[in-house]
Amino acid sequence: MAEPVNLLKLDPSDFKEFLDSFDHVFSDCDGVIWSNGTLPGAGDFFEKIKKHGKSVHYVSNNSLRTRQDYEKRFHSANIENGFDNLTVPSIAIAEYLKSLNFNKKIYCVACPETMRVLERAGFQCFEGPEVGSENYRDYLIYLEDDLDVGAVVFDSDFRVNLPRLYKALTYLKRPEVLFINGATDRHVPFKPGCMVLGTGAFTDLVVDETKRQPVQLGKPGKLFGEFAMKRAGVTDPNRVLFIGDMIKQDVGLGKSTGFKTLLVLTNTSKDEMIANQTLRPDYYAESLGSIVPLL
Ligand SMILES: [Mg+2]
Repeated sequence: MAEPVNLLKLDPSDFKEFLDSFDHVFSDCDGVIWSNGTLPGAGDFFEKIKKHGKSVHYVSNNSLRTRQDYEKRFHSANIENGFDNLTVPSIAIAEYLKSLNFNKKIYCVACPETMRVLERAGFQCFEGPEVGSENYRDYLIYLEDDLDVGAVVFDSDFRVNLPRLYKALTYLKRPEVLFINGATDRHVPFKPGCMVLGTGAFTDLVVDETKRQPVQLGKPGKLFGEFAMKRAGVTDPNRVLFIGDMIKQDVGLGKSTGFKTLLVLTNTSKDEMIANQTLRPDYYAESLGSIVPLL
């Protein structure tokens, strides 16, 4: 497998060749544009890259934030129209279900914002319960099927509990019930150097139990990458540079969809990047800000 190339070590002619190798930039947000606050130079990077004639779009696995929250963050980073050019799993799931003319009920093991996006798109959703009984015998009610349910959607539910998993598993026993997953993240960075278990672990559990693979509408799913391309009006994945901070999600999406990949070392160390024998980015840099002087 080819060694990732340090962008900052390229001589000017090789850097120009790199710039000429893509027309579109798809960028992750968390850990690339902002972490706790805006990361220095991120806004400048996109402004300069646009001046080089590149189109810019944003692709995140984070459906948790409201539109207002995203707009505030893009604004703080001096990025205009960020939200309008953003693809997140909730939007992809709603569009996917619309494309199927889906008209049954959706059981959501998802964050509140994903459920709101689906409801705003006209779908009938329900979730819960918030808490389960401490007595196992009371759990029988969660094993009752509801034939009006036609899809189970998993996406960043931080309130997931055993009753919710029971209900999901019950509905998914019927093969015609769609199994859809947004964010896959098995681990998420809470702060630099602090990776913790993410909600993707629960989807993995359901995959294990049901022996079913979900329709993957979050990174690194190819369908999600293709959906982002469609939204951006891009037809050739080979002309896309995907920028992210996570190997599994971001480099993984690049590999599954056919994008070139650039890893910023916010949440992944250079050693971890090199140690990964299966997924390696084409390029890496400390941060977007570190590339600005070369532009
Ligand atoms: Mg990220």
